[in-house]
Amino acid sequence: MPRLAVLGHPVSHSRSPAMHNAAFALLGMAEEWGYEAIDVAPDEFERRVQAMLGEGFAGANVTVPHKGAALALADTVSETAREIGAANTLSFVAGEVHADNTDAQGLLDALPESVQGIRALVLGAGGAARAVVWALTREGAEVEVWNRTELRSANLCQELGGRPAGPSPDPGAFGLIVNSTAVGLRGEDPFVDLPLTRSGFASGQTVVDMVYGEGRTPLLAAAIEAGARVVDGIEVLVHQGGLSFGIWTGREAPLDAMRAAARG
Ligand code: NAP
Repeated sequence: MPRLAVLGHPVSHSRSPAMHNAAFALLGMAEEWGYEAIDVAPDEFERRVQAMLGEGFAGANVTVPHKGAALALADTVSETAREIGAANTLSFVAGEVHADNTDAQGLLDALPESVQGIRALVLGAGGAARAVVWALTREGAEVEVWNRTELRSANLCQELGGRPAGPSPDPGAFGLIVNSTAVGLRGEDPFVDLPLTRSGFASGQTVVDMVYGEGRTPLLAAAIEAGARVVDGIEVLVHQGGLSFGIWTGREAPLDAMRAAARG
């Protein structure tokens, strides 16, 4: 029975096991395949992954804080993961670890339309922002990056493209706004910690919040109020998970079933 897992620290909140196991059930693969959550501390990560090679695992998703370590330990690495500098999908084949990144394409697949030529404001300069900036610049968006620690956004732009947005960008001037900071994860107020105001969104904009939890985030609630189109973090999660599912199984992911399970 090929096993799969999501490796994180913490990881008990992850929707990935429900999402992938629902896909296996729908496709009649649940007798064969199973997906679990494994909490691994950073200093245990490499040893745990090496052990998985002998425990029947076909691969794993990797989440905070292990995406950089996953890239570093892999025997082979996709061009996407190498350029972004992070891996969220590992495949174990013939005793070797292959690293990939489906976060970037997952974001693009979750968006309602092409971002070619669109002016995009990306908030954040951590691992999630790196995948977002990489994806949007590759698709021809004009990307500006705001981050609380400006040096990090400057460095990110130098490495991956886009340009620093400065300390106070005008959110109304952008066709696409992506919150890829962790703001909102622990109840922080996005209208305090981010350069956004409750009334600053506009219809015609698309607003993405990578952060997800129970119910709609305050950021997306305000965007909807303004008539903007919104994409929540679960939708991005479903699309990146669908791409990982395809890598491991060679099957097309049943996104509707995965979405329903992820939304609980
Ligand atoms: P990370 O590498 O730790 O980066 C955190 C980012 O958030 C940094 O830019 C940091 O700014 C910023 N930040 C944290 N607290 C802040 C605050 N109070 N005010 C302003 N900025 C703050 O984390 P990550 O891996 O990029 O993940 C970011 C978020 O995206 C997490 O909530 C994660 O769950 C989510 N995510 C979702 C998906 C999905 O599929 N939906 C995928 C990946 C990640 P500084 O540089 O100034 O510290």
